[in-house]
Amino acid sequence: MTVKVDKEVCIACGVCQELCPEVFGADEEGKAFVLEGADCDAAGCCEEAAESCAVEAITIEE
Ligand code: SF4
Repeated sequence: MTVKVDKEVCIACGVCQELCPEVFGADEEGKAFVLEGADCDAAGCCEEAAESCAVEAITIEE
C-alpha cells in the first residue's frame, strides 16, 4: 500500500498527522507530506487518515 498527499489540495488542518503520526508529517506551512520510509501497512492508520481528510488530499494505492 502506498500513500500520497496532494499539497495543492491540502488545507493544513493537521488531522492526518494527529490520526497517523507514523506516516504523515507537516511542512513549515502545516501542509501534510508522507514521512520518508513510512509504512502504511505497518502503521495501520493510513485509511482512517485518508477517510478523515475533509478535502480528500490523501490518496491510497494498493
Ligand atoms: S487531513 Fe488532509 S487537509 Fe488535513 S493536513 Fe492531512 S492531507 Fe492536509
